Amino acid sequence: MQVWCPASAGPGWPHPPHTLSRTEDIMDLFEYQARDLFEAHGVPVVRGIVADTPEDARRAAEELGGPTVVKAQVKVGGRGKAGGVRLAGDPQKAQEAAGAILSMDIKGHTVEQVMVVEAVDIAEEYYFSILLDRANRSYLAMCSMEGGMEIEVLARERPEALARVEVNPLTGIDDTKAREIARAAGFDDTIAQKIVPVLQQLYRVYHDEDATLVEVNPLVLTAEGEVLALDGKITLDDNADFRHDNREELVGSAGTTDPLELRAKKNGLNYVRLDGTVGIIGNGAGLVMSTLDIVAEAGQRHGGQAPANFLDIGGGASSDSMVAGLEVIMCDPQVRSVLVNVFGGITACDEVARGIVGALEELGDGAAKPIVVRLDGHNVDKGREILEEFNHPLVTLVAGMDEAADRAAQLAAEQPTTEFATVTS
Ligand code: GDP
Ligand code: MN
Repeated sequence: MQVWCPASAGPGWPHPPHTLSRTEDIMDLFEYQARDLFEAHGVPVVRGIVADTPEDARRAAEELGGPTVVKAQVKVGGRGKAGGVRLAGDPQKAQEAAGAILSMDIKGHTVEQVMVVEAVDIAEEYYFSILLDRANRSYLAMCSMEGGMEIEVLARERPEALARVEVNPLTGIDDTKAREIARAAGFDDTIAQKIVPVLQQLYRVYHDEDATLVEVNPLVLTAEGEVLALDGKITLDDNADFRHDNREELVGSAGTTDPLELRAKKNGLNYVRLDGTVGIIGNGAGLVMSTLDIVAEAGQRHGGQAPANFLDIGGGASSDSMVAGLEVIMCDPQVRSVLVNVFGGITACDEVARGIVGALEELGDGAAKPIVVRLDGHNVDKGREILEEFNHPLVTLVAGMDEAADRAAQLAAEQPTTEFATVTS
């Protein structure tokens, strides 16, 4: 049995695999989105309306009634200090505040939206957060009676004022744990009583939304004695995207604007576009990475051809994912040839071969580029038989991986450059 080892990736390796995952920065939510999720989970918040023009901010303030606070919506902290949070006594003032904030740049982030919220009369500002503690394979809750200021500063200057309480992921923040946190932070019983249910609701947000961070700074006690989450930061875990319908809406399109990457993403494919000419489809990340390597190497013998993409259709390698994968690759105007490199394991080679046939039938004239197919593993003979019988003019069956890569690179070198995508579906 052959072992496909991504660690073998040499200096010719075009892109590191970390490009396949979203950074946490992209998984950060705007404050207004955090506010919405808080509200949905019963965390007490103030009413807020998002606006992207000063006029809209004025209308928002009119709708909310009374004094408001106009807040820059950027994914960076310290907005208050930067002048991105302004109290507005009336709608006219809210419009002016929005006018000033909407043209601001806060730490390199351009403000494109503001949130107009009801102003509250703050008696005290607290701090609370819950986060994934990777080093301890646990969750960590942090809480302080001294909120409002930057938590890094507090942690550095008065670490004793910041309580750190480990939270068991299996039990979470229940009533007992919430009491423990409130006690550790030094709240007296009256305030603890008000805070405890809010900590539990914030934990629901963290847990139910699959977040890696929920932070509230400040969590305030109002003059009326109410506890409110006045600011919110949420970082979502992109590993859990599959079990949330709201992720597309919340974090958009995986931080990519490449239409092919978007299309691949929609079809559940693990696809990264590169700049070469040989389209690549394989099953399993390790195999696909090895394929990129050998194509890069073979390409040097054929006028500098290189991989056009990373595309892993996964262990299942169903007919549907093959159709989707081939479609995406055929759409790429850079691609001049395609290499399908599949190792039959969970899915046998005959199944994969039927997937390729199905894909080519579905694509019809859209499949206008030569395809080199290399199959190995479970039921390889049957798979080859199916493709031989299908006898598609664009398909070349090749037995070995090196030979397949060489053939694909050669075909890419021979193809004329195409300026147009050929698939219209
Ligand atoms: P950040 O600076 O980016 O963390 O933005 P925040 O939303 O935390 O706002 C900064 C500060 O503005 C808070 O710590 C509060 O002191 C103040 N602030 C925000 N909203 C209100 C409000 O409704 N009333 C009052 N009085 N102050 C507010
Ligand atoms: Mn804040």
